[in-house]
This record gives sequence, structure tokens and C-alpha cells, in this order.
Amino acid sequence: MAFLIDCPNCGVRDVYEFRFGGEMVARPENSTDRNDWSDYYYFKKNVVGEQSEWWYHAMGCRNWLIAKRNTVNNAVISTSVYGDSEILHEK
Ligand SMILES: [Zn+2]
Repeated sequence: MAFLIDCPNCGVRDVYEFRFGGEMVARPENSTDRNDWSDYYYFKKNVVGEQSEWWYHAMGCRNWLIAKRNTVNNAVISTSVYGDSEILHEK
């Protein structure tokens, strides 16, 4: 299913220029519990609705970006460059 992503560096582009990097999950930085790390690496929320995701602009600027996307209809609500967004603080 095709949809558009507004790359912060390149502008609006077809999703086929990008590679999906998975949903954004906060790293359990201070945890030594292996279950926390296992959950981080292997278990995804698979949200029905809005979620924050990693996308790599492979056929453009070759940068990673964060997109908030509705998984039901593929509407991209917002995009940002890594480090420029409050999205990073969501769990
Ligand atoms: Zn780009």
C-alpha cells in the first residue's frame, strides 16, 4: 500500500523511497534485568492506531527519521529528525 512520507530533509516522497525501521520503543537504559532487554528487542506493541516509527530514507538523504503514523490507514501525522522531537520521550 503506497502512501507519502514528508521527509524533514527532502520533502514529501513516496514510501517506496524509505525502509521501515520498526516501531519506536524506549531503551531500558538503566535496567540490568535481561527480561527488560528481551522485551525491548523481541516484543513489539503492534499498535492499532497511532505509533511512532523509525524510517530510513534510503533513496533520498540517507538519514533516519521518526514518523508518527496511523497503522490503520497509513496516514503520516508528523515526521521529525532524530533528536528534534518530544516523541523520543514516549513509552
Ligand atoms: Zn530525506
